[in-house]
Amino acid sequence: LPLVSLQQAGKCYGKGAGKVQALQEVTAGIWPGEFIALCGPSGSGKSTLLNLVGGIDYPTSGEVWLMGRNLRLLSDRETARLRAQSVGFVFQFFNLLPVLSVYDNIYYPLMLNGYSRKLADEQVMAMIERVGLINHYRRPPGELSGGQQQRVAIARALVKRPALVVADEPTGNLDMRTGEEIIELLLEMNAQSDTTLVISTHSPQLRASARRILEIEDGKLKDD
Ligand code: ADP
Ligand code: ADP
Repeated sequence: LPLVSLQQAGKCYGKGAGKVQALQEVTAGIWPGEFIALCGPSGSGKSTLLNLVGGIDYPTSGEVWLMGRNLRLLSDRETARLRAQSVGFVFQFFNLLPVLSVYDNIYYPLMLNGYSRKLADEQVMAMIERVGLINHYRRPPGELSGGQQQRVAIARALVKRPALVVADEPTGNLDMRTGEEIIELLLEMNAQSDTTLVISTHSPQLRASARRILEIEDGKLKDD
């Protein structure tokens, strides 16, 4: 079964004269273990599509099925629970909580899923080690470099072992070399676990590494 199934999914922002058709009739399935690059020019609808894929937003036409559930038939609360269990997110500007330590940023999603600190500790520390931040886990994210902050975000996305990780331009705010290291890390994470990754990108390296590329243009899926 696909983790995500989009059936002629569309997304319209606003109404009347200010209406924007950001996405039109996208049909695609995302399968366990895939590593997918989502490519397209700025404004083509990549973030909008990722928000549908990850259940952050609802389509205004067509259907999105996430983990076998039709998002249209779920309440906001049920969708939030489904996301908390099954989807991790990585963003261009990291979106870490500045007042929490690296450790607590990574613990946070497990806390939301009801894990005590004690129960979560082994999993959190293992993740910190995997992303190479063992010497920094007591610090707040603001004291780390951009690349290190993105490692924290990746650890946070993966710590609950989600079926799906959605990354929206994860290298967009990093220099070329640091971005390449982050892509290496994401590829490693995909290879070592069953986690499916969907990543929007302008990075040629990521394009070259991906086993599947979705090309989007003017809100339409041009190539799969
Ligand atoms: P990309 O990620 O490829 O840059 P987006 O999905 O962010 O593209 O945007 C697609 C289109 O939808 C653009 O025209 C953008 O201006 C518009 N858009 C995105 N988010 C909103 C929003 N919240 N309200 C109105 N228009 C939006
Ligand atoms: P060490 O880092 O030398 O193993 P510490 O006393 O710093 O020893 O940490 C012991 C354990 O406490 C760590 O392995 C970690 O699991 C946990 N820990 C450290 N910092 C935090 C924190 N901010 N919140 C929760 N647990 C923490």
